[in-house]
Amino acid sequence: MKNRIELLAPAGSIEKLKIAVMYGADAVYIGGKFFSLRARANNFTLDDLKEGVDFAHQHKARVYVTMNVAAREEDFNECDLEEYLKYLQSIHVDGIIVSSMYIASFALNHTPNLEVHLSTQASITNSDSVNYYADLGIKRVVLAREVNLEQIKVLTKKAKVGLEVFIHGGMCSSFSGRCMLSNYYVNRDANRGGCAHSCRWNYDLYKKGIFKEKLVNKEGYFNIASKDLCAVTLIKDLIEAGVESLKIEGRMKSEYYIATVVRCYRKLIDAIYNNEDIDYNYYLEEIKKAENRETSTGFLKGDVTLTEQLYDSNDHPTKEFVGYVLGYDEDSKIATIEQRNNFKVGDMLEFFGPHLENTLYLVKEMTTQDGEAVSVAPHPRQVLLLKTDFLVTKGDMIRKKMDN
Ligand code: SF4
Repeated sequence: MKNRIELLAPAGSIEKLKIAVMYGADAVYIGGKFFSLRARANNFTLDDLKEGVDFAHQHKARVYVTMNVAAREEDFNECDLEEYLKYLQSIHVDGIIVSSMYIASFALNHTPNLEVHLSTQASITNSDSVNYYADLGIKRVVLAREVNLEQIKVLTKKAKVGLEVFIHGGMCSSFSGRCMLSNYYVNRDANRGGCAHSCRWNYDLYKKGIFKEKLVNKEGYFNIASKDLCAVTLIKDLIEAGVESLKIEGRMKSEYYIATVVRCYRKLIDAIYNNEDIDYNYYLEEIKKAENRETSTGFLKGDVTLTEQLYDSNDHPTKEFVGYVLGYDEDSKIATIEQRNNFKVGDMLEFFGPHLENTLYLVKEMTTQDGEAVSVAPHPRQVLLLKTDFLVTKGDMIRKKMDN
C-alpha cells in the first residue's frame, strides 16, 4: 500500500472542525461565505477560515474550502474571486473544491499554491474525464457517488491524479448537483445549498388511480429518497484499490454525529493498516449510535434497487448525545461536564472520546458546580460534576441509550 488513505470529514462550523480533527480526521472540508454550497451550514467567516486552518495545521490535518456552487452573476458581484482566492492562499488553505472550470482555471492561474480539486458536482465517472482534468492541473477528482467499487478499481489504476470517494452520509436520488425538486416545491435551491430534502417527504403513490401499497413505508407513505451511504464493510477494498481520500458527507450534521462517525472510520482505517481482525458489527453498531437514517452501500456494490431506497423515514440513532466533558480533576476524580440532553440519576451513560474507549458509567449521583446534589439534568448546557473512576479529557462526549 502506498500513502495512507486520507479520512476527510465535513465541518459546518469552527466547533465542528475542531471536533472532526480531534476525533481523527486527516482533513476537513469547509465552506466560506462565498461560492459555497450549504448556505445554511454556518459557513465560515474569513476569520473563522484562518482559525480553522491554523487549528487543523497544528494537528497535522489539511483543510479544503468548497467553492462548488453553480455560481451566478451575483456571486461574482458579491465577492472578488481573485481577492478571495488570494486570501485563501495567504492563510495556507490546502486546497479548494470546485465544480466550475472557470473558477478552477482562474485559481490555477492566480493562486498556484492552492490545490484545485474537482467536486462530485462535476459527475466524473470515467478515467478519460479524470485525466482530462488532471492535464489541466486539477490535483484530485471527487468521483460521482454513482460509480461502483469495480469501476473505482479501474479508475484508480488509470487516473493520473488522486481520487476521492464518498463513504458515508446522505445520497441524492438524482446525480449530485442535478436535482431541482426542492426548487420546484419550496423555492429552495439545492444547488446553492438550500435543499429541503423533498425526496424524503412522505408521498401518496398512485398509478392510474390505484394506490401502490407495496411501495409504502411503515407509515403508509412512499418517498423517493435513497438510504444514507455507509461503506464500513468496503473500506478495506477502497484502500486496496488505491483511493486517495475517503469522504464523509454532512456539513449540516451535529457535533455528536461528526465525532461518532469520524471516530468510527478512524478506528476502522487504523485497524486495517494494523492488519487487525475486523469485527464489522462493532463498527456498524458504532455508526448506528449517531445515524438517524437507514443506510446502504449505495452504488458501491453495483446498481441500486428498491432495497437501497429509504422507506422508513422515522429511523433514529440508538444513542443520544447527553453531555460534553469540559475537564477532569485527577485528584478528586471529578469530571466537569456540560449537559446537552436530559439525563438523570440511575441512567447508564457511555463516555467516549478520541482516546477514550467506550466506557459505561452508571449515574449514582451528580452535583451542580455549587455542590448541590441533583437527580436530573434537564437544563441545556447546565454544568454538572460527576465522579468517575476513569480518566476523561476535555472534548470527550457522553451518550445514553435512546428512549424509544
Ligand atoms: S431533494 Fe433529495 S435528491 Fe434532490 S438534491 Fe435534495 S437530497 Fe438530493
